[in-house]
Amino acid sequence: MNGRIVVVGSLNADLTIYCERLPLPGETVHGNGFSVNPGGKSANQAVAASKLGGDVSLIGAVGKDPNGDMLIASTEGAGVDVSRVRRSGEVATGVAVIAVDEHGENNIIISAGANGTLAPADVTTEAFDGASVLCLCLEVALETVEAAAKTAHDAGATVLLNLSPYAEIPESLAALSDVLLVNAHEASLFLGEAEMPLPTAPASEWEGVRSQFADRGLERVLVTLGSQGSVVLDSQAATGEQVVRIAPTEVQAVDTTGAGDAFTGAVAARLAAGESLAEAAAFASVAAALATTRKGTQAAYPGVEDVVRHRS
Ligand code: ADP
Repeated sequence: MNGRIVVVGSLNADLTIYCERLPLPGETVHGNGFSVNPGGKSANQAVAASKLGGDVSLIGAVGKDPNGDMLIASTEGAGVDVSRVRRSGEVATGVAVIAVDEHGENNIIISAGANGTLAPADVTTEAFDGASVLCLCLEVALETVEAAAKTAHDAGATVLLNLSPYAEIPESLAALSDVLLVNAHEASLFLGEAEMPLPTAPASEWEGVRSQFADRGLERVLVTLGSQGSVVLDSQAATGEQVVRIAPTEVQAVDTTGAGDAFTGAVAARLAAGESLAEAAAFASVAAALATTRKGTQAAYPGVEDVVRHRS
């Protein structure tokens, strides 16, 4: 039976403008479409995991406003338990202002809103009854992230930390993180701006990155490489294969917003279903690639059948 997944963190309304190219600093460009969609890294991860068959509860905060209504409807509509998403009467729902160019490349500014009110007190022990996986990102206060990691760890759940948006984390939080999920940029920053090997570099070059993470107490790391796939750095691999490169899934990307969240949610779903880290990453790589083939985030995320069909 699948274990329960708890996601603690952010819900945002994504305000997206599509344009030919992203504006340079000080420049104005014309957009060719605007949409308001449910987003926020944690809401996205929760929806991705739920659509892939996970039993998911979300802990977060939104305002008592239309954006909050939209986020509750979207996450709940995807099968996520939202009974622990608090509605704040004082603060507006968080928003992300996103620009997407014709190649699917994006840049994003976030205003935390109600996400900024999510506190350690929101993370109760009973929320982790029967939980096997916790998903965390850094769009809410670090003290809340750490409280959740500690509570989940004490409950015996596997703690996944998506180090995004990048911030320095205390050693105590790193020690509580069973699996770290980073893109190449975040991996480099975490390792003191270390140079990352090319995605196509031999496993021996990634071996050095694995040992640098392991030296910092992070023995299981997934590095996502956009259209180049991902790399599993697992110092504890039961197979003894400590570096596994996951080849990219060839797709026509339309919008890569939230691809990393699709990847994280998919990893959570597959770990909760009992797969190894490398198996979960291979599945997640396909799920995240499929997510880039449609505009938006949550609505673009695939179901299990889509991923299975694409893999066969
Ligand atoms: P983030 O969005 O956090 O920066 P990445 O860009 O590395 O993360 O994307 C996360 C994952 O999504 C990748 O490891 C890959 O599996 C998938 N992905 C992203 N962009 C593409 C693409 N253009 N083609 C195929 N897969 C993609």
